[in-house]
Amino acid sequence: MLIEKIEVIPFRIPLRNSFRFSTGTVTAAEHLLVEVTTDEGVVGVAEAIPRPMIYGETLESVQAAIRGHIAPQIVGIGVHQRAAMLHAVRNLIGNPAAKAGVELAMFDAFGKTLGVPCHKLLGGFAESVRTNFNLPGGSTSEVVEKARRVFAEYGISAFKAKVGLNLAEDVATVLALREALPDADLVVDANHGYTTDDARRFLDSTRAARLAFVEEPSPAEERISRRSLCSRSDLLIMGDESCPTLRDVASEVLTGGCTMISLKLARTGITVTSQIRDFCLGTGTPVAVGSQGDTAIGTYVSAAFAAASPSTLAYPSELTYYLDLEDDLCAVAPEIVDGVVRLPDRPGFGYEIDREKLSRLRMD
Ligand code: MG
Repeated sequence: MLIEKIEVIPFRIPLRNSFRFSTGTVTAAEHLLVEVTTDEGVVGVAEAIPRPMIYGETLESVQAAIRGHIAPQIVGIGVHQRAAMLHAVRNLIGNPAAKAGVELAMFDAFGKTLGVPCHKLLGGFAESVRTNFNLPGGSTSEVVEKARRVFAEYGISAFKAKVGLNLAEDVATVLALREALPDADLVVDANHGYTTDDARRFLDSTRAARLAFVEEPSPAEERISRRSLCSRSDLLIMGDESCPTLRDVASEVLTGGCTMISLKLARTGITVTSQIRDFCLGTGTPVAVGSQGDTAIGTYVSAAFAAASPSTLAYPSELTYYLDLEDDLCAVAPEIVDGVVRLPDRPGFGYEIDREKLSRLRMD
């Protein structure tokens, strides 16, 4: 099961509606399909998701990193040698999506070679995962209406609202969501959009909404005020884009910059996400599996990781972004019933790429 070749294919799938949050607006999933082929003809697949506005990677830079730096290091090694791959590219600083995409494709190939589903290889704690739904920005009535529709259609009763855009409107939306859905799990993500002062006002004004946690309320680089906000808050403060590496997570958690961590497979792959999860377990820091705007491919990956161990199931995972895309590359998309995604009992991460769709959606 030696790696014979690696291919990177950029693709574009438009969103049904653009997704607005405080660091930018996304109108389409412009991601890369990473394919690792072994000497036995097994093809492992994953998606790499560049986020220029957060980590600086672009479609072009991910292709260059994989073709020019990662592929030459790993052609000829075994698909199980993920640690060797990460060690070999340790001096390629940054490039999280490129490294994660390759590692996830290797793991998919490993599972397929063994004939075993990846969620079982990862720990196999559960067979299903509860999902939340990320509500895009919009007017209060639009956001509430969307949440109601999602609850009716998929039985999803956990929601994340994007805030950090306009304090007064955000507060009104969050309070209206609570009134409309009295029993739902509600959380918000400000993506660093508030000043620390406004973040404090937001927390004070939304007490009645009984939020489970607040994600990235204020700019992470304002280190001192962020710590005072965190120490004064009764709510868990989640670190997401401020904590893209194991070192950042350790530093933020141990110095009081946040009290909860978002795990993203598209950002830190299997190895580093596992390290972060276990660091958090050891420090009593709750975690939740987040989405980097995953298509159905990344959704299967995130669900497999979330299902693997108890600490990643304490909060709902983010497994619905693909529902907002006009199309998908998977022959069979994940199914959500009663707010839950069931893990497929198929080798690897359990998806199969529809080659006709790929030829239509690829950008090269
Ligand atoms: Mg976030």
